[in-house]
Amino acid sequence: MRREIVLFSKLLYRQGCMPGTSGNLSVRLDAERLLITPTGVSKFLLKAADLVVVDFDGRQISGSRKVTSELNMHLAIYRHRDDVQAVVHSHPPYATAFACAGRGLEEMLCQEAVMTLGVVPLAGYATTGTGDVAASLVSYIPHYDAVLLANHGAVSYGCSLPDAFQKMETVEHLAHVAFVANQLGTPRALKEEQIEQLLVARFRYLQNAQ
Ligand SMILES: [Zn+2]
Repeated sequence: MRREIVLFSKLLYRQGCMPGTSGNLSVRLDAERLLITPTGVSKFLLKAADLVVVDFDGRQISGSRKVTSELNMHLAIYRHRDDVQAVVHSHPPYATAFACAGRGLEEMLCQEAVMTLGVVPLAGYATTGTGDVAASLVSYIPHYDAVLLANHGAVSYGCSLPDAFQKMETVEHLAHVAFVANQLGTPRALKEEQIEQLLVARFRYLQNAQ
């Protein structure tokens, strides 16, 4: 798990989603503990030994570094979603630009958006590193797998770390496509019947994948 967090930290850093020391990743270890990145470390330079173990009350169990200041956001997601095994928070530039412009990724522009993530809503403004971030997310967590954070960044979560990572990657891709489509003119959003057909196709795809 430590090696996996280090791998996906580096990937997100290389994709420009975690500049400076920003961004944090975590995985659920068992019913009592999660493994999470520390504060103040570049995700490119992160080492397996830097990671921190905390319990679900936020108490640090092991690790010599201090836990990320965004711990409360991770805890809120695990508390509200039993199915979630991993959480990724980052500052991808296009998705963050949408979050700074007060816009979620609500318009279904490309088929991929329907087939993968669905709507990515924008949560209300909250000061980073405070309990307000978790509070701003609570109403969205049960219904969505990725959320934009106003004037801040994005968070995604899933059944594994690769799953949460791929959702973050998709959030940024969808934001990039939406930005370019808007620059090219008036984007043509998918129609309701087209979305329904895609949802049927998605259901079939997921059944075959099992
Ligand atoms: Zn952040």
